[in-house]
Amino acid sequence: MSVLSLADVYRARRRIEGRVLRTPLVESPTLSAIAKNPVYLKLETVQPTGSFKLRGATNALVRLAETGCKRVVTASTGNHGRAVAHAARALGIEAAVCMSSLVPSNKVEAVRALGAQARIVGKSQDDAQAEAQRLVREEGYAYVPPFDHLDVIAGQATIGVEIAEDLPDVAHIVVPLSGGGLFAGIAFAAKQINPAVRMTGVTMERGAAMHASLEAGKPVLVDEVESLADSLGGGIGLDNQYTFPITRELIDEVVLLDEATIARGLVHAYEHERLVLEGAAAVGIAALLAQRLHNAPDFQGPIVLIVTGANIDMNQHRRIVRAG
Ligand SMILES: *Cc1c(COP(=O)(O)O)cnc(C)c1O
Repeated sequence: MSVLSLADVYRARRRIEGRVLRTPLVESPTLSAIAKNPVYLKLETVQPTGSFKLRGATNALVRLAETGCKRVVTASTGNHGRAVAHAARALGIEAAVCMSSLVPSNKVEAVRALGAQARIVGKSQDDAQAEAQRLVREEGYAYVPPFDHLDVIAGQATIGVEIAEDLPDVAHIVVPLSGGGLFAGIAFAAKQINPAVRMTGVTMERGAAMHASLEAGKPVLVDEVESLADSLGGGIGLDNQYTFPITRELIDEVVLLDEATIARGLVHAYEHERLVLEGAAAVGIAALLAQRLHNAPDFQGPIVLIVTGANIDMNQHRRIVRAG
């Protein structure tokens, strides 16, 4: 793993300090009773943009700003897009978020509300991506990818450093898995500090590109399927450079969940932890409740679940809680 060092992660931590929250790690009595081991929640939900994505985006943008970069672009309309917009405004640089005309107006407005330029082009995510690449080629923008970039990975890895400081004897960390920036970062930092830490990635049953790629031994495409864990959708890139190899090397276990199980995690978080979570953020709790985290029978030690984000449509949240 010579592409990344623990020193890079500590430098990232200094860079984002004061711009991103150092988040609380809180014990959950109900989940601890179920797991028969102490269970802690790492609450990235309290970040200013409602997800951990602010860590990687801020680390990448501070570095770009240091080199004189004045304009950044991304094609993500979700948590990464929000994070880039927020970090750009804080640094006084311009951000453009490219999106297709099919993106719902509330997402377009959310990007504009954060001070970024919303560029509406074409009718698909590919069209939006092509426009982002055009801005890089023709107008001098710097592209900030959502996961497959060393500064983004190092930014997400600061979560691993915080966990090691707050809970030095952590034995098992459970991470929602999509493009793998979060997993690769936390697993890298945690295992550099203590190689015995068990690392589990949790994702949805259908449309999980990283899981399919790990099975195939190389990055592959999957069909996009709608999921309550919408932040876990999307591909990992056929030209994936970092998150696939790092995840492949450091992952101990992948857990795949169906939609009903994810919904139970979300409802449990609301009723027992008093947390409003988006589906992607509830998969760790869901996996634990469904007894799907496989530890050795004699396993003992603290378990940390990364609770990644709170950005869910509140009408959707109410529907799920009522149904549950
Ligand atoms: C992006 C995201 C993830 C997954 O992160 P990756 O780095 O793409 O694996 C998980 N949860 C939430 C809320 C996210 O926004």
